[in-house]
Amino acid sequence: MIKADLIIRNGYILDFEKNGDEFLKQDIVINSGKIVFIGKATSYVASKEIDANEKIVMPGFVDTHTHIGMSYFKGIADDLPLMDWLQNHIWPLESNFLNPEFVYDASLFGCAELIKNGITHFNDMYFFEDQTAKAAKKIGIRATLGEGILDHNADKSIQITRDLYYQYKDDNLIDISVAPHAIYTCNRGNLIKARDLAIELGLKIHIHLNESEFEVKESMRNFGKKPVEYLDEFDFFQVPTISAHSLWLDENEQKIFSKKNVTASINASSNYKLANGINSFKNYLKNGVNLSFGTDSVASNNNLSMLSEINIFSKVQKALIHDSTFLPAKEVLKMATVNGANVLDNHFNSAKLEIGNNADIITVDVDNIQSQPLYNMFSQLVYSIESEQIKDVIIDGKTIMINRKLVNVDESELLKKAKYWREKITFYQK
Ligand SMILES: [Zn+2]
Repeated sequence: MIKADLIIRNGYILDFEKNGDEFLKQDIVINSGKIVFIGKATSYVASKEIDANEKIVMPGFVDTHTHIGMSYFKGIADDLPLMDWLQNHIWPLESNFLNPEFVYDASLFGCAELIKNGITHFNDMYFFEDQTAKAAKKIGIRATLGEGILDHNADKSIQITRDLYYQYKDDNLIDISVAPHAIYTCNRGNLIKARDLAIELGLKIHIHLNESEFEVKESMRNFGKKPVEYLDEFDFFQVPTISAHSLWLDENEQKIFSKKNVTASINASSNYKLANGINSFKNYLKNGVNLSFGTDSVASNNNLSMLSEINIFSKVQKALIHDSTFLPAKEVLKMATVNGANVLDNHFNSAKLEIGNNADIITVDVDNIQSQPLYNMFSQLVYSIESEQIKDVIIDGKTIMINRKLVNVDESELLKKAKYWREKITFYQK
């Protein structure tokens, strides 16, 4: 018998090369963080096993835009216009509460919520990212982390990014990115500094772009160009870039994204809730833009459910162009897994259940009324299944959640901390 770390037994393996309607039960064998065998694992023995009978076994979701340190601001100021929300609620709270302890606690809480939603890799931009890195390591989730660069903190954030890079450059879970916040909070000089740092260290860039029509208008007024054209003018896109929102790209901007390896992170719930509008992504696909999904923060979403994100987005996209054939379920699921991993994973694509790849895997219970009768796994995942049915989460070959219970943190402790900080925030608001 061959020894391995973990065997996931008897699951329905989700395979993007197939149609989603084959229910052959198979095992996945994992060793040293990698998938080593898929099939009937009769010649393997492992110290740990997961029973995946009547469960879909699939790659974890990749969340390409979050602010996980904001997790305690969930539901604190809803149903407000974007600028009122930001200037009169979020920014004052941040200036009062952001410190290492707060960001660590909020990050750990947020990471727990990500895992409960089957997200195995998140791409974050916020402050005190050293604390978010610590929280991600503690809970065991894969993360790409960027310290937010704005004009008022640019040199300090660039130094923090550099320090984090050296601290984590050999880490198997944490990657560092360069994260200039947006073109309206970073001047050209600071955007160029961010670009050059990313080139020097070989890092990706994470930025907000084209979130609102107001932002596009301001760009025209200030620079005489659309946001993406303005950045391209000084050759900003020299490293793989993840652009949050990317809601209002015109044809030429879409072509620049495609040519310069920029991935759009679609943040549908956040865009709808803050009333930044609805745009069709059909042309983006025609122009070859890599589309992925981000949940954005719980302050604007207000949850971290990738299943809810893909459900609402795909229906709205069909309705918008009166075409129910647009964005079939399999394509949407690829956007939520493979497309994000293609840009974020450096070596072993976590979103493909293939031998040699990272074992970032979730199981989804389909032995229940919500999921039956089950004809097609892709359809059920996009249109029927909810996060509560995600049972087990494996990241880097390690079991992080078993039957919805987190392995590396005490959930009652997380709840206690959330209530403690709620008291403090409520007291401050009075
Ligand atoms: Zn954001």
